[in-house]
Amino acid sequence: MNIVCIGSGYVGSVTGAAFSALGYKTTVIDINESKVALLNSGQSPIYEPGLTELIRAYIGKTLFATTSYEAVKSADVIFIGVGTPSRPDGSVDLSYIKAAAGSIGKSLSRDRFTVIVNKSTVPVGTADLVSSIIEKESGLRAEHQFTVISNPEFLREGYALEDVFFPDRIIIGSVHHAAKDRMRQLYNSIVYREGYEAAAKYFYFKHNPEAPQAKYFETDTKSSEMIKYAANAFLAVKISYINEVARLCESLGANVPDVARGMGMDSRIGEKFLEVSSGWSGSCFPKDTAEFLHTSQQYGSELTLVKTAMQSNERMHAYVVEKIQHRLKSLHGKSICILGLTFKPNTDDARKTQASYIIARLIELGAHVKVHDPQGMEMFRSLNSSLSVEFCKSPQEAAEETDMVVLLTHWADYQRLDWTKVAKRMKHPFLFDTRNVLEHHEMERAGFQYEGLGLRKYQ
Ligand code: NAD
Repeated sequence: MNIVCIGSGYVGSVTGAAFSALGYKTTVIDINESKVALLNSGQSPIYEPGLTELIRAYIGKTLFATTSYEAVKSADVIFIGVGTPSRPDGSVDLSYIKAAAGSIGKSLSRDRFTVIVNKSTVPVGTADLVSSIIEKESGLRAEHQFTVISNPEFLREGYALEDVFFPDRIIIGSVHHAAKDRMRQLYNSIVYREGYEAAAKYFYFKHNPEAPQAKYFETDTKSSEMIKYAANAFLAVKISYINEVARLCESLGANVPDVARGMGMDSRIGEKFLEVSSGWSGSCFPKDTAEFLHTSQQYGSELTLVKTAMQSNERMHAYVVEKIQHRLKSLHGKSICILGLTFKPNTDDARKTQASYIIARLIELGAHVKVHDPQGMEMFRSLNSSLSVEFCKSPQEAAEETDMVVLLTHWADYQRLDWTKVAKRMKHPFLFDTRNVLEHHEMERAGFQYEGLGLRKYQ
């Protein structure tokens, strides 16, 4: 089976590398020449643990990268993994999807049946839209010479290879028999872990060969498109909920890590996504909740819970700034160190991150802001050129002569820091750990006045 992945971002490059490692001839197509050049030189266009090693092993063998759509002609399955950002009103911008569909249509072969797969997160009805564009451009008949189906991606940045090789579930949205057969054939490799011996050499993570196999679920196209938004919005609601509980814990003197732990012991609730933070952010949740809400409003079925979770999340970002301000009083002339610019560790993805909002507010209130992130500084800098911050080479340098360190992203590097040395370099050793990951007593022994979120004693 010949595979094409359109887009070499977080989804496309990981999907392409994984299928090539499983023995499929896979061509990644991107309009961005520098990303294609990186792939061809055996480097990953994104920071994702293990990805460079995998690309280096398969590039030029079963993995190919190009800016040309020529490979579409001989493709059996084409994954679309281009971006679907937000427009200012919250609705999704489908221009990249439409452009990719147009280019596929221009190159599609008359001689074979091709399955085109929307892997990007797209609203209900997008498979029909892509299908109509391809029909128009190619002159071919949908459902006869090609079909467009939905197969949403659930990978988590930072764990992307683990999630692609060992997913919890694979969702296929199609009622087309031949397309369903082809996708089953393709995904058998993943469900039954066929051809994993060669790929396993490049697994940087520990995997359990006994782990349950992926659930393979087939449904209609629209339900599949909806599953992705409904799942992401649900997770966003869950995080907003525990963040609100954390704020109430602070008022009442309860301890949110214990509350979350006790809640998570209930298998109906589950322990995941009950970790407190300065609010959810990143390249998926903000745009996906905004689009889901926008569509619900357009169709007269407003998702009020999602709307409230979004408002609650903005409140959480603001609450973090208020706590900083409460501790330091006037921020004029104060110097603040921000550790972590990405929405979570192990990624360089600094799109729509909570750090942008929090830093912008601190600057507005008169603070000088010094920042550090192990991987996200380059992207953060390019996306936030209007923010006047001091980028530092190390967390120690960022903390130098500051009045407070605010830990926004719980990178392991930060958890391993010699905090005693950090405290000594600061003007005032205040530490605000918005992820509650540092051990309070240890931080106090290191010389800090420690503060977390929703903690009984350290407020
Ligand atoms: P990205 O911005 O990292 O990558 C998109 C790539 O598509 C870019 O390299 C861009 O140059 C390329 N592109 C744009 N138009 C093109 C065209 N016409 N032809 C060829 N290439 C084109 O995006 P991403 O983070 O990989 O996300 C892609 C989609 O997957 C989005 O819908 C997103 O919501 C969804 N998704 C992302 C994640 C994630 O963790 N990043 C997880 C699940 C789902």
